Amino acid sequence: MQMDANPLLDFSGLPRFAAVRPEHIAPAIDQLLADNRALIDELTHAETPATWAGFAQPLEDANERLGRAWGVVGHLHAVLDSPELREAYKENQPKVVQYWTALGQNLALFEKYKALRAGPEFDQLTRAQRKVVENEIRDFRLSGAELPSEKKQRYAEIQEESAKLATKFAENALDSTNAFAVHVEERAALAGIPDDVLETARAAAEKDGRAGWKFVLHIPSYLPVMQYAENRSLREIMYRGSVTRASEAFAAAFRAKAELEQRTNGKPSAEPTPVPEAIAAWDNTPLIACILALRQEAAQLLGYATFAEVSLVPKMAEHPQQVLDFLEDLAARARPYGERDWAELGAFAAAELGLERVEAWDIAFASERLRQARYAFSDQEVKQYFPEPKVLAGMFRLVETLYGIRIEEDQAETWEPSVRFFRITDGAGELVGQFYLDPYARATKRGGAWMDEAMTRRLTRQGLQRPVAYLVCNFSAPVGDKPALLTHDDVLTLFHEFGHGLHHLLTKVESLGVSGIRGVEWDAVELPSQFMENFCWEWDVVRHMSAHVDTGAPLPRALFDKMLAAKNFQSGLQTLRQLEYALFDMHLHSDFDPAGAKSPLALLDEVRRRVAVSIPPAYNRFPNTFSHIFAGGYSAGYYSYKWAEVLSADAYSLFEEKGVLDAATGARFRDEILAVGGSRPAIESFRAFRGREPTVEALLRHNGMTESPAAPA
Ligand code: ZN
Repeated sequence: MQMDANPLLDFSGLPRFAAVRPEHIAPAIDQLLADNRALIDELTHAETPATWAGFAQPLEDANERLGRAWGVVGHLHAVLDSPELREAYKENQPKVVQYWTALGQNLALFEKYKALRAGPEFDQLTRAQRKVVENEIRDFRLSGAELPSEKKQRYAEIQEESAKLATKFAENALDSTNAFAVHVEERAALAGIPDDVLETARAAAEKDGRAGWKFVLHIPSYLPVMQYAENRSLREIMYRGSVTRASEAFAAAFRAKAELEQRTNGKPSAEPTPVPEAIAAWDNTPLIACILALRQEAAQLLGYATFAEVSLVPKMAEHPQQVLDFLEDLAARARPYGERDWAELGAFAAAELGLERVEAWDIAFASERLRQARYAFSDQEVKQYFPEPKVLAGMFRLVETLYGIRIEEDQAETWEPSVRFFRITDGAGELVGQFYLDPYARATKRGGAWMDEAMTRRLTRQGLQRPVAYLVCNFSAPVGDKPALLTHDDVLTLFHEFGHGLHHLLTKVESLGVSGIRGVEWDAVELPSQFMENFCWEWDVVRHMSAHVDTGAPLPRALFDKMLAAKNFQSGLQTLRQLEYALFDMHLHSDFDPAGAKSPLALLDEVRRRVAVSIPPAYNRFPNTFSHIFAGGYSAGYYSYKWAEVLSADAYSLFEEKGVLDAATGARFRDEILAVGGSRPAIESFRAFRGREPTVEALLRHNGMTESPAAPA
């Protein structure tokens, strides 16, 4: 196939969505991989000068082409799934992954970057270019590139073994989730559970050839049972199954469940209980020990004392103790509010629900009842006030005011007729960037909402390349001739993703590696997105972007006040729960000895006794399904959720001081946070914007945790 005939190899402008076919993928990717490999061979020659123009720039150009072509494929895979596309994606993905892995291990390139860093040219590079070089060297070091050969060998083995264990951890969690189900044949035992959940449960039982209802541990089945089932024994058994998954305590949960089924249905359980060997094979306890030991060993090979130290090298937080202090401080401040929430829940449960003591399996149920009693309003009612066109116009006007930009609808090839395209211009009418908005759920689209890069701002030999973003949501599509209606949660989601989008689109950086959201520390990257959410709780913003779909009236103030009060419902309890997980994670990876006598469970217990206001039953094995840190990217990083929330709340507090629509503060946020991207450390950007170090005050205030905790919420 000719280069010019394959739309994936056309880098002259926007992606050519109307032309791309699954059969273009393999030839384009093969071509780009071959071109890039040949180029890298040249670039790593001894004669190639270790300069920006000599190797860093050509490498960036080549990688960008691959990134853009594969980006289009990945994007289509996420928003326009088809069997042919899925096949082509699966077939090509390993090749692309292999390429990036090999690039990260290419020692000749590492040498070039080091030579560039040490050479005379380095000081003449732009700040962004210097940061790119520093980041490259850092990442090579963290992947073990500098180790002597026998240690390098061991390091590679550890990485491979860790990846296998993480996969196994997730599989065990999933297998045990799938293994547990409760069958109920008495309708009377299911009072309170919503009809749609019951319908699904009935269909699930039918599929097994059984009468009655089947409840499982997957969230869409589990959560409504915990929130709504009046049957306390059913909640208890579901809870017990859930919190013992992938542990040795799972077997006892099966026995308890069989007893419950016999009691409720008046006959023995027809469900075959898994053999004990299967339960033993799903036990994640030994895996946790291995994973922790390997992480510790890898950290020490790299010359660090603990895994937490390694994890923090590319992050904004500087050292584990700083994170621990941050978490402990927040816990101490949140604790009185958590205690208040807990006392209120207990009093309500005793008075209204006849529950003497709130057990772990009562929390969601009693909380839902209390929430309804206090803040009765429905999403359905709120939705009528947020028609999509009104919300979009309001959001655009907000950022136009704050950042001195203009947003207008524009034309481009898209992948779906309902997708819209917009252009952003600055005060002088110059093009700043463009974005696609794909708002509605459909069968071919992955769930959730996200922002992704289509093109990234950078200086090329042909001139300045402007950034382009994808904003993808899963809102309900319009029905009939009415516009789509958004829940307030949808509005928050839209603002959140648009915040990521603006970070990408309003960058002024000209080097790919640190342009937009690239190279931004992982624990700071949610700052611009969470920041945007604050405006959705601001009356002066909300009243201008709400209009009843039939009458045009803005959201009533009384309804907004109820929403605001409901927002902080149990914020003390929720904060303490997040802090419990974050402290457990950070201790586990910083001052816990995986070979010592204390178990991770015992460590968690210690943390809980310091932080939590309610202690779960002894059979609780939460660590065994804590996939965020054992099978995901959050190891020694779970604190990031709270960390970024503190930053975004504190940044927003300057707007509260100066006026939430203050253009001068907006310009400062644009210039000091959004425009600089990853070209300088996030803490420096924060200081430049806020004029001081971050503090937790604003977050506590936004969560209603500054008034006296004794006062009624
Ligand atoms: Zn986000």
